[in-house]
Amino acid sequence: MNNKFDFIVIGGGSGGIAAARRASEYGAKCALIENNKLGGTCVNVGCVPKKVMWTASRIGEMLHDAPDYGFSIKINGFNWADIKKSRDEYISRLNGIYDANLSGAGVTSVPGTAAFESQHVVTVNGNKFEAPHILIATGSRPFVPGIPGSELAITSDGFFEMERLPQKVVITGAGYIAAELAGMLHGLGSKVIMVLRKDQLLRGFDSSLTSVLMSEMKRVGVEFRLRTSVTSIKQDPDSKLSLTLTDDASIDSVDEYIIAIGRKPNSDSLNLDAVGVELTSRGHIDTDRFQNTSAEGVYAVGDVTGRAPLTPVAIAAGRRLSDRLFGGKINSYLNYENIPTVVFSHPPIGTVGLGEDAARMKYGDSVNVYSSQFKNMYYQVTERTSPTFLKLITVGEEEKVVGCHIIGDFADEIIQGFSVAVKMGACKRDFDNTVAIHPTAAEEMVTLR
Ligand SMILES: Cc1cc2nc3c(=O)[nH]c(=O)nc-3n(C[C@H](O)[C@H](O)[C@H](O)COP(=O)(O)OP(=O)(O)OC[C@H]3O[C@@H](n4cnc5c(N)ncnc54)[C@H](O)[C@@H]3O)c2cc1C
Repeated sequence: MNNKFDFIVIGGGSGGIAAARRASEYGAKCALIENNKLGGTCVNVGCVPKKVMWTASRIGEMLHDAPDYGFSIKINGFNWADIKKSRDEYISRLNGIYDANLSGAGVTSVPGTAAFESQHVVTVNGNKFEAPHILIATGSRPFVPGIPGSELAITSDGFFEMERLPQKVVITGAGYIAAELAGMLHGLGSKVIMVLRKDQLLRGFDSSLTSVLMSEMKRVGVEFRLRTSVTSIKQDPDSKLSLTLTDDASIDSVDEYIIAIGRKPNSDSLNLDAVGVELTSRGHIDTDRFQNTSAEGVYAVGDVTGRAPLTPVAIAAGRRLSDRLFGGKINSYLNYENIPTVVFSHPPIGTVGLGEDAARMKYGDSVNVYSSQFKNMYYQVTERTSPTFLKLITVGEEEKVVGCHIIGDFADEIIQGFSVAVKMGACKRDFDNTVAIHPTAAEEMVTLR
């Protein structure tokens, strides 16, 4: 093989594949190196299988509601193995599609683990590959603390390998992955206990969203152990786990203990010292707004940079980088402001812009807040209920919208449209001038007073 390329991409996940394909469209000769399945975290152990399980859990809720809507149904249980099989098959299809797309785009796929030999040379399985431009898009992996028995715990990766629904699960972590796993497992029938080091889920999100979510999770039966953490894990003779907590409490008869306390960037095995790529104190690759690292000709996008670790962000940053390097768009870069995001919790959260606390910190007294909490019409005839809460945050006399937050059914779908408005710099009067769509939950966002 001629191992000289215009562009080498390390990592075949969201960011790497997007960058390689875009560069190839411009005629660049590209190689993409991947040491696992194509598609990366999102496709294999992230967004995609997660959304399948979230949907399964939502279907469970709707089946529960069906008699209230006049259906006479008999539910004969839920079979985890069935949905896991369909989910795994779907992901295998996606792996194949990514492979076909890459070769269709003329990108050379190189299986194996890459490490830098010098600024323009990487080695894979003893072979050297050379390019003037090298992109690091190696993502991140779950962080597991070194507590006694930690090998008995699983992470979100292990969640996707589970062969059956656990009866009793303990989840440590306050981030969106922990919140999502807790909601899905509870919805499917597990007893879920969340262990939080502090007392709030989803720090960094608007605090009204997190308090609505936590009180709803508590109301439906998720148990919270706050201001504590797991210090050791033991396996009992019956194969169940016993967890000891900092406050000397314990949790016994646990089927799975899931650690979801954060992710570590995959920057440590790349031999970055050889090229002088600087890392942040948390091991992320430091990049400027053009995704340049401190080494000329070496770039980084996606989770490995620690900036807004989301699939569409990695994709957008990767594409813009290739536009700049190979498409003649020399000023192309990703603006990381007002990135919308969804938490697939129960109920889901959709959010864009600043939370109330962050807005007050930045803009002080010029902040105005509009909010509304209500019961979605869907629940007016059901025994089961679930809240919807909306908040709009504006700034200054013209009331420019700097934050738009929703928790409630369909927030995951609603927020994308509102994020266009926020990104365009819409003001409250633009929301007010928009005719409502009735009867929907989203209409409340344009009728807030
Ligand atoms: C449980 C979970 C749920 C998530 N849900 C969502 C969601 O709903 N929406 C959303 O937007 N984001 C979600 N994410 C985040 C999303 O998956 C990531 O932000 C995204 O995958 C980052 O893309 P990336 O290209 O930076 O890295 P990745 O997709 O992780 O790809 C990196 C690739 O590099 C490979 N690699 C690493 N080191 C090397 C090496 N030295 N040589 C060769 N290959 C290497 C890895 O095997 C991997 O395939 C979720 C993540 C998790 C864990």
